[in-house]
Amino acid sequence: MKQGIHPTYNEDVLVKCACGNTFKTGSVKNELKVEICSNCHPFFTGKHKIVDIGGRVEKFRKKFNLKSDDN
Ligand SMILES: [Zn+2]
Repeated sequence: MKQGIHPTYNEDVLVKCACGNTFKTGSVKNELKVEICSNCHPFFTGKHKIVDIGGRVEKFRKKFNLKSDDN
């Protein structure tokens, strides 16, 4: 059996996400970088719903801005 042809599997690899979240997983690499994780994925965070609600809040903000402009 040849030695060194199989990459070493690390069981404690630090994964860094673009959102700043870090977690550990198993990989042949020493460090992993991902753009999305379970902490920031819309499926888990429900951001799509928050964005939808944000549109309503924006309307109310505009109303308040008009009032403050009258002062
Ligand atoms: Zn993330």
